[in-house]
Amino acid sequence: MLPQGRDHIRDVLGENGISVVDLIEAPWLEDVRNRGRLRLLESVMHRDGVDATTVVDLSTDLGRMTEALSFLHAMLVVCASFDERLLARWIEGEASRADQLFGMDSGNFNSIATSYISGLKEERQSGSKEVIYWVPMSDFIELCPKISGNYWRLANRPVRGGWVCMNSSSGEDSRQRTSRLLKERVREYLNDSCRERMERMDDEFAALFSEPVERITGLLSERVSAEMPMSAAVREDWPPCFESAVSELNQGVNVNHVGRVFLASFSRSLGHSQEQTCAFFSGAPDYNAETTSYQVAHVYEREYTPHGCASLKTSARCPVNAGDDTLCDQEWMSHPLKYLRAKQRRRFQAPSEDVVSQESEPTGSVSGNSS
Ligand code: SF4
Repeated sequence: MLPQGRDHIRDVLGENGISVVDLIEAPWLEDVRNRGRLRLLESVMHRDGVDATTVVDLSTDLGRMTEALSFLHAMLVVCASFDERLLARWIEGEASRADQLFGMDSGNFNSIATSYISGLKEERQSGSKEVIYWVPMSDFIELCPKISGNYWRLANRPVRGGWVCMNSSSGEDSRQRTSRLLKERVREYLNDSCRERMERMDDEFAALFSEPVERITGLLSERVSAEMPMSAAVREDWPPCFESAVSELNQGVNVNHVGRVFLASFSRSLGHSQEQTCAFFSGAPDYNAETTSYQVAHVYEREYTPHGCASLKTSARCPVNAGDDTLCDQEWMSHPLKYLRAKQRRRFQAPSEDVVSQESEPTGSVSGNSS
């Protein structure tokens, strides 16, 4: 996943006379495909972080080739799927894998880090073996808004001559903290690389990967519905009450207590991580990362059910009037989660069923009281 990896993989393909068609069907590359499938599966299915270890013997040429080409195989399958959910999960899995591996690699850390950020300084305190890393302020400022927590606010970091100190914290040493920052660049790099490939990929090329694509998207759909039916939601599916709470906070408008609890609990129902939910609050006029993390954690631990429509209307957190949104106008619309399910069903069902289902109540009920 390093930028240099692109040339390396091209060299490996050239030196071994491997074409993309070979990668898909040559019998002698079965191990590459198996490893690619496993790696893809790990990245996509593991919600709580990927396992960065590999069963491939990297001390041999064959092992290194297998690992490099398995990455390419997995990436091509993801691109050929043109599935945003799969893409997002794979990128998150690979970026997390990079975060873990970079944090362990003391020997190559300098070269790895400077592949992603514009510089790196090391400092060793007298009498201590621990290395403290400093990163350029420009890189830190660009990447830190994507990470929640007090540590990642510039005001809380020691700064000297345009360099930001990445000292150890939260059980992570300086290298691991710096790796967390690099993870954001890995994410950007993978996203750009995949989108570039997808733009160039024609139907004929994508069809070569139809079998592995079908297998992984099928598994993903099963997993998504098993985890939480709402986790595939895209922004267009959000009910107006959630959308307005997010946009208002984003614009620095104060949102009342009910609106904030609703935002956190609904975000949890969408399958967002605590970190993602905290990020929604970062534009609040009274934003405090520590307080937000504490309150969001409380909502997650207690598994709050989001407020229903009646409660949101009473608390002035329902932004629609009659005629504004046909779904909200339906008699059965009593809960924003019903709105979400109805929207999702419209998107995922066949067009013929879609027309019929537009104004019908979604299957499955929303139970529980808002908290
Ligand atoms: S009617 Fe219900 S779902 Fe629609 S915006 Fe109001 S509270 Fe949200």
